[in-house]
Amino acid sequence: MSQQINTRIPVKAASHAGKPPLARVRRIAGVLEEVLGLPVQPRNLPSSMDMLIATVLSQNTNDRNSHHAYASLRQRYPTWQAVAEAPVRAIAATIRSGGMADQKAARIKGILRTIRSQYGSYDLSALRTRSNEEIIRELTQLKGVGTKTAACVLVFSLGRDVFPVDTHVHRLCGRLGLTHNSRTPDDTFEQMKPLIPVGKGYSFHTNLIRFGRKVCHAQRPECGRCPLFDECVFDGKDREAVRATTVSKTDHSFMLLDNISR
Ligand code: SF4
Repeated sequence: MSQQINTRIPVKAASHAGKPPLARVRRIAGVLEEVLGLPVQPRNLPSSMDMLIATVLSQNTNDRNSHHAYASLRQRYPTWQAVAEAPVRAIAATIRSGGMADQKAARIKGILRTIRSQYGSYDLSALRTRSNEEIIRELTQLKGVGTKTAACVLVFSLGRDVFPVDTHVHRLCGRLGLTHNSRTPDDTFEQMKPLIPVGKGYSFHTNLIRFGRKVCHAQRPECGRCPLFDECVFDGKDREAVRATTVSKTDHSFMLLDNISR
């Protein structure tokens, strides 16, 4: 049976007033670890090639659908060369469950074609010796690959201490007052970069995703059981708002990027 936990960790009223952002990020990351546990990265990381395609498939859909699309793709085409040689229409039919299949299929073909011509094979191992900035610069040259996707490759396949920002992490950083007038996930990524405590990129990202799914939903966040209520600067926060669910340390939602083939 999963352990039910009290998410109402007491925090001092207006505890963030006058605190430097670095200290606030450290404190918020600590509260989330206390409430949701410390996410530990798996020892066997997937290849960067696998992670790149999995992340492209995860765009604009949920993890369950994109995982299904990724599994179907790998099952039908055991190698990336086989995907590269397949017609776009056939790839699209295989990944239909992941949504935007026609666009993603064309992008995947294009990405594979470019990687083959730049690296000589469908292999991104050469990235291992490059800096984070170089890798982001290089991957974002590929059509359909943005900063978030490149950051996911860095953290989830190369084990780098990077904090990827998708729309959910962007929303949460804004609500918690960690960013200023950030309009996009890429802007939030740049603003958060100097604030992430050393070694916390993976765990803080993962816990924010969990927190967003379990408590601070995009619509109707459950502020009534939010352990970060007093840190929050969101205009619409409501101390009474709860749903009929509970949070546990072990009941984590399925996460695609923790579950692709290794
Ligand atoms: S108080 Fe509400 S809006 Fe603010 S972080 Fe908590 S759940 Fe989200």
